[in-house]
Amino acid sequence: MKYLFAITLMSVSFLGSSQFIKDTVMMGEDSVVIFSDKSWEYINMLNFDGIVNAELHEIIKGDSNYLWKENWDTQVPYTRDNDLSKIPDTLWLCNVDSNHNKFCMPHPGLVTSRFKYRGRKFHYGIDVDLVTGDTLSSCFDGIVRYAKYNTGGYGNLVIIRHYNGLETYYAHLEKLFVSANQEVQAGEHIGLGGNTGHSTGDHLHFEIRLFGNALNPEEVIDFKNRQLKSENLFIHAGMFAYKRKSSSKSNSSSKTKTLPGDDKVTYHKVRSGDSLFAMSLKYNTSLDKICKLNEIKASKILKIGEMIKVR
Ligand SMILES: [Zn+2]
Repeated sequence: MKYLFAITLMSVSFLGSSQFIKDTVMMGEDSVVIFSDKSWEYINMLNFDGIVNAELHEIIKGDSNYLWKENWDTQVPYTRDNDLSKIPDTLWLCNVDSNHNKFCMPHPGLVTSRFKYRGRKFHYGIDVDLVTGDTLSSCFDGIVRYAKYNTGGYGNLVIIRHYNGLETYYAHLEKLFVSANQEVQAGEHIGLGGNTGHSTGDHLHFEIRLFGNALNPEEVIDFKNRQLKSENLFIHAGMFAYKRKSSSKSNSSSKTKTLPGDDKVTYHKVRSGDSLFAMSLKYNTSLDKICKLNEIKASKILKIGEMIKVR
């Protein structure tokens, strides 16, 4: 596995067996993944032939520079619509590596709004409190892809693409210190915070996106302790479930099936990225109850299309 721009794919099935990945220990070409419940799994990279969706796979399998250089557009904020809520496998990115090993908080202020629905609209980033004129910093090394006023609501916006393909968005800026195609280092000052665009008070609206897909910045950054959450970032469909939620409001019945003659049981049809734990949250039940209902173990590996009783 190359550590520079290291991207390794592994089956998502083991994610279904436990709750959260706590740590990953590299052992030569292989690794041991340790879960939050202290269980662990040996991942044999040598024999792994998993493929994420075909389009992403084309990008990833090639020259590692390609991932972060492709679709370079200095005029539009989003590069493409590649729906990551449909990736069948987990994409493993390194937030930092031996060549780009620094991280810096964009601003040390308090988080005032999180990545979630606010009423009917989804908030695709984190809001950080600041005073107009406060200096903002690039989180990682990278190259500025976009630096100008955005009429879509971001106001003065800087987008930096990092070497693992992630992009960070810094919005509502008072002043820009960088321009498109400029190389920046982690911690470099990129502009001053402000209140431009659709904003009702001084703050930084901060987003992290991969192929235009917003992910929760708190998956990457521990805002409370002002540090990187982990060197590793596991991208999986569940992180983009908010997309399915918004698009399936009108046809939510398609996901929950009541089988004929079994009118008291609710089934969930397993789709990529699902885990028993995620189902327990979705259906407001517990992992234990789901296991008992189906007479299965929590570590069961789910098959796509399988029907699981959830209630
Ligand atoms: Zn915001």
